[in-house]
Amino acid sequence: MLPDVPPPALRLGLDTDALTSNWHALNRMSGAARAGAAVKADGYGLGAAQVVPVLHAAGCRDFFVAHWSEAPAVLASAGPLSLSVLHGPVTHADAAFARAAGIKPVINSLEQARRWLQAGGGPCDLMVDTGMNRLGVAMTELGDPVLAGLEIDVLISHLVSAEDDTALNERQRLGWVHARTVIPHVRASLANSAGIALGASYHGDLTRPGIALYGGVPRPEMAAVLRQVARPEAAILQVREVPAGETIGYNATFTASAPMRVGTIALGYADGYLRCWSGKGRFLAGGQVLPVLGRISMDLTVIDLTHAPEIGEGDWVAADYALPESSIATGLSQYELLTLLGRRFGR
Ligand SMILES: *Cc1c(COP(=O)(O)O)cnc(C)c1O
Repeated sequence: MLPDVPPPALRLGLDTDALTSNWHALNRMSGAARAGAAVKADGYGLGAAQVVPVLHAAGCRDFFVAHWSEAPAVLASAGPLSLSVLHGPVTHADAAFARAAGIKPVINSLEQARRWLQAGGGPCDLMVDTGMNRLGVAMTELGDPVLAGLEIDVLISHLVSAEDDTALNERQRLGWVHARTVIPHVRASLANSAGIALGASYHGDLTRPGIALYGGVPRPEMAAVLRQVARPEAAILQVREVPAGETIGYNATFTASAPMRVGTIALGYADGYLRCWSGKGRFLAGGQVLPVLGRISMDLTVIDLTHAPEIGEGDWVAADYALPESSIATGLSQYELLTLLGRRFGR
């Protein structure tokens, strides 16, 4: 048998105090509604097994994933909770799994409603499409008798551009309010993270923040209350002296104009630290800022240690990864910056 594999030279720092604080802030901003949590895509890349227990301990009880395959990790991570699968029962096997596991499917179409009832039915959520035209029962289908057979807990709709001030927000809200009057349900939910900032009329009984829990700032007025949660960190594998005139990394995009001291870290684009950070990213250690030199490789990145002589091999450095600023710097969305972080990180 193989001995235990040693810990990796890269890890995803998770600030659990910040995660807790963000959920409380969003729950407070949700007023009379309760905040749930979107934990799809493995907790937005941070690890569902890591974020769900923290959110549950904070008081969160309603969780949302996209795929059925994401359900077990959430159920195994914390005590009693309500779990909804946003993609709904696409096959009879999905419906049977939901019933056996006590998970609510989000019903997205009349076909899914029929499939759920055929499998035996039970508590479910209903997605009503008020403008996304992606998933959800159309407004014109709300009178269909099959919906009357459902046992609907949360009546959901999803905002198209809650991060912008656009007339579409109010139009969608009115559609959701109309659906609430014609479809029997226990709770109603409209707002994602950005939607929470649109005010009490968007809150219903349950809000569904995702990105803001993890330190994304979808609307500027939310910046003051949200804290950074995730920090990619890597260990320095090797330190070297680079003479003036030498280049660093693939395609020689960086040339040392003076003698330099550089460090090579165990993080690359295969880990989600994409090539758009080449010559642009920055790392932090002991109050020092350590710029990225040259191209990001698949498994390696080189940083400037010239002005940080106390930092050496084996030391850990943290990427400057504040989401709003990183999004502006790279052109990647705050959502992409989190969900692309790879599987080699210790979490
Ligand atoms: C992903 C998702 C959310 C969370 O959205 P954020 O913008 O990350 O807050 C809420 N509701 C649904 C239906 C989603 O798919």
